[in-house]
Amino acid sequence: MQRKEAAFYLVQRFYFCIHHVVQRKCSMAITKVWLDETENECTMCGACEAVADSVFSVPEKMVVKKNVDFSKFETEIKEAAEGCPVATIAFEVDGSGKRDNKY
Ligand code: SF4
Repeated sequence: MQRKEAAFYLVQRFYFCIHHVVQRKCSMAITKVWLDETENECTMCGACEAVADSVFSVPEKMVVKKNVDFSKFETEIKEAAEGCPVATIAFEVDGSGKRDNKY
């Protein structure tokens, strides 16, 4: 009987952990976006603004607009970051304090 209870407990814990990981992964939110010129410089091509003009503006080098709710534009931000020819668009997820995108 004790073995059955222990096995049940382990299965329950395993399910809880998987559920927690999946839920966390699904609820990851972009909390910061910035121009990251540590490796390359913004070429001022304007591609990011074309993809997400609610978030980016390119008067000269790209600037992230103020008071933007990034959660409303996550798809566009990711698309702009992926499409940036020099990978200078950085974003942070869930307040990690670091650049979380590689491209
Ligand atoms: S897509 Fe990249 S290089 Fe082009 S303006 Fe935006 S940040 Fe600069």
